Amino acid sequence: MKLKSLEISGFKSFADDTKIDFETGVTGIVGPNGSGKSNISEAVRWVLGEQSAKNLRGQRMPDVIFAGSAERKPLNRAMVTMVLDNTDHYLNTDYSEVSVTRKLFRNGDSVYQLNGQECRLKDITDLFLDSGIGDDSFSMISQGRVEAIFNSKPEDRRFIIEEVTGVSKYKLGKQKAQRE
Ligand code: ATP
Ligand code: MG
Repeated sequence: MKLKSLEISGFKSFADDTKIDFETGVTGIVGPNGSGKSNISEAVRWVLGEQSAKNLRGQRMPDVIFAGSAERKPLNRAMVTMVLDNTDHYLNTDYSEVSVTRKLFRNGDSVYQLNGQECRLKDITDLFLDSGIGDDSFSMISQGRVEAIFNSKPEDRRFIIEEVTGVSKYKLGKQKAQRE
């Protein structure tokens, strides 16, 4: 499974429709302070179902909608689409390409789509469950978290490494088996 592209429109500082293609290999996103680098990683977290506005540096969820600038009026909806290459069927679905879309309107209406079909948030969270890239996994590490990880106690750091490597899942299974 691989991240192919991200389309962002009306989300945070991305007023214009913006498409980012991720080529094979490592992608680095560079730019001056305040240019929207963190907003890109938040777009990924948001489309995967993030429900906490605070985790997206806002007060309320509509804060993710482009709020306007000196030259531009505010917009009425935020939309993010993430496209994944699933030719290895790492995600449990027949689709070899998976697209996930989330839209939010100022009036509070919210839409989720999987491969262009309207779906529930649960359908998205279920698809990514155990994939290591859900909204609560360590695959996304935000600014500030890195420092917190380096400064954490060895036990806590070990927990993080076990989460990232998928060892935790087996530890839980072992504990469960020992209890039974
Ligand atoms: P740094 O290098 O300092 O980490 P960055 O490239 O990560 O910066 P971001 O934090 O992604 O930058 O972007 C911050 C910018 O996004 C700010 O200018 C902020 O005003 C803008 N922004 C955030 N939310 C909205 C919104 N809803 N509407 C318009 N602009 C927004
Ligand atoms: Mg940043």
